[in-house]
Amino acid sequence: MPHWLDTGIEYLKGVGPQRAEALKKELGIHTLGDLLSHYPFRHEDRSQVYRINGLQGDDVWVQLQGTVRPVGMTGQGNGRRYVAMLHDGSGEIELVWFKGIVYVDRMLKPGTTYRVYGKINNFKGKLSIAHPELDALIPNAPIKPLSLVPVYPLTEGMRRKKLENKFLVTAAQNAVNSTLYDIPENLPQAILNKYKFISRKDAVKELHFPQNLARLEEAKRRLKFEELFYLQLRHLMLKGFRNRTYKGLVFDKVGTYFHDFYDNHLPFELTGAQKRVLKEIRNDFKTGKQCNRLIQGDVGSGKTMVAMLSMLIAIDNGYQACMMAPTEILANQHFDGLRDWVETLGLRMELLTGSTTKKKREQLLIDLADGQIHILVGTHALIEQDVQYKQLGLVVIDEQHRFGVAQRAKLWKKGHVLPHILVMTATPIPRTLAMTVYGDLDVSVIDEMPAGRKPIVTVHRQESMRPAIMEFLRNEIAKGRQIYYVFPLIEDSEKLDLNSLMSGYDMVSTYLPPPQFKYSIVHGKLKTAEKDASMNLFKNHQTDILIATTVIEVGVNVPNASVMVIENAERFGLAQLHQLRGRVGRGNEQSYCVLITKPGLGENGYKRISTMVNTNDGFEIAQVDLELRGPGELDGTKQSGVLELKLADIRYDESTLIASRVEAQQWLESDELLMKPESAPIKAELAKIPNRTVWSKIS
Ligand code: ADP
Ligand code: MG
Repeated sequence: MPHWLDTGIEYLKGVGPQRAEALKKELGIHTLGDLLSHYPFRHEDRSQVYRINGLQGDDVWVQLQGTVRPVGMTGQGNGRRYVAMLHDGSGEIELVWFKGIVYVDRMLKPGTTYRVYGKINNFKGKLSIAHPELDALIPNAPIKPLSLVPVYPLTEGMRRKKLENKFLVTAAQNAVNSTLYDIPENLPQAILNKYKFISRKDAVKELHFPQNLARLEEAKRRLKFEELFYLQLRHLMLKGFRNRTYKGLVFDKVGTYFHDFYDNHLPFELTGAQKRVLKEIRNDFKTGKQCNRLIQGDVGSGKTMVAMLSMLIAIDNGYQACMMAPTEILANQHFDGLRDWVETLGLRMELLTGSTTKKKREQLLIDLADGQIHILVGTHALIEQDVQYKQLGLVVIDEQHRFGVAQRAKLWKKGHVLPHILVMTATPIPRTLAMTVYGDLDVSVIDEMPAGRKPIVTVHRQESMRPAIMEFLRNEIAKGRQIYYVFPLIEDSEKLDLNSLMSGYDMVSTYLPPPQFKYSIVHGKLKTAEKDASMNLFKNHQTDILIATTVIEVGVNVPNASVMVIENAERFGLAQLHQLRGRVGRGNEQSYCVLITKPGLGENGYKRISTMVNTNDGFEIAQVDLELRGPGELDGTKQSGVLELKLADIRYDESTLIASRVEAQQWLESDELLMKPESAPIKAELAKIPNRTVWSKIS
């Protein structure tokens, strides 16, 4: 029998077929259950009436009560507005309307007592409320019970149909006050007891219509945990499912290639962190389970070497390996970087990208299927339908966030026994985010930089200081160094983009004129061959300055470049700035990063720039980035689908996140297949979630 929650929304008192259509179309609310899980994003605190003379702060929502005195129209142009003063005996405050003025003017009755609700705007100590909500208090009528009123997410479409917050409040009220109101519990009793959580039925009711702020917090505490618990449970179940379903290749030996390379050709001593991570990977390889590991490491921490050594283990065990990069430039670079090492070992490595000629590609595919190629490096071209390996044992995905989930899934389907998979992040991501987005992967962290690196000196300069900056660049070039000079990408307009780059070049070259100073220019409009040619000139030190948009962002390695200049630095995100800065500091020389901005940075821009100036630590930067932007805005998380969190915010709910992971882990350890009676609520809950395809979440 269907549950009460599955009742169609049109049957709810006060809704009816027409409004039901709007709810379905605008908010995806089809049933009572949908309505009740359309959570309010805040509550209006109507639990008290404030005195005007006690008001302070900015952007706070308050309820006031008093009489109004209309003042009338004032101001010019955009500032034109209707003003009335509200008095409550303790003081007065301005009420302001920019729209609906005729209506307001007609409605406001001087001398009538109103209950007023709105957001305080504090402009240099002058308080006002724009577009307040007004309720006339009829003398001698009973005062409405004061309470916390939910505020729901709405769409413009709803508003156009005059279905405002009040409509949703009434609908939700009718639902929770129904005699049939019921919400089944979906957490096991043991967890409810342990955390002293209120029941789901109470929690949902309190979340919409809390009795007081403390009850609201209790409801949130429980529902956030529940949300995160199910997220972690799904990650861990996916992981468990893979482990049970797919055999992993067993790489039980570390053989000649690895040892030859390690003992005779390793160009440097591995850092402790590299060694530890390598050991973690080797352990995975031995277990007979498929390895799905995320390798996190800061820019320059040496992820490539870890990949190289891992690929050698695969080859030692008779398998092939491939390494996939997000761009051709990067694929080329990996290919060049690995080639000498691979060749000294007598192994064959090939490059496959969109630019590989048809003829070359044909031969390459034959050799690959025949097992003559040990390592294939490339871009998306690696996972096209006709690319068949003889025995693919390991896939390394570099700078992962550039790859769509669907692309990864394609790769997954390539062999019947799945290859081991290492995913490498471009920059670190905070632990909470890793747990949320990559919760089904094991995680290794390279948290140590190779010895002897000089920290990059980062400075913030105004545009007006260009002459001095250019003088500094001139000196660096005189010392034999090279310069990256980056302009922001102008989104959605390649043409504008090119213009800004060209005028940027004109500007820089007035200070550092050619032919004395030699330039490479790289931008999105160039063909791959042109881009590569330009990059190569810079790599080979035939040019001094690389003028670019952010196409150089990921991975590019030119150790002789010692300065990164970023124009309009305020227009870049933190992760991007950190990536860009990571292009320098790769050689033995002291390196610099110069962030140029216009004066008058906003708070957020200032925080980004000052974070860059204050630290080189990618993990710290990632944390600030997360705090500033919120989880939904970070690279690679939008597509993941796992950040559709409605209540929890991993920035603030870290301890709940960790607790939920621990509980999910322990639960599955004691009842992996959810067969025990205690697991019934979990099983029922999971059955409600439409089965997402397994592929879509696999790395
Ligand atoms: P990323 O982690 O950003 O991909 P890379 O793998 O490109 O970093 O390494 C950056 C540079 O550091 C490369 O030139 C690499 O050869 C060098 N490197 C890597 N590991 C070490 C180490 N243990 N000691 C010294 N240099 C190292
Ligand atoms: Mg790299």
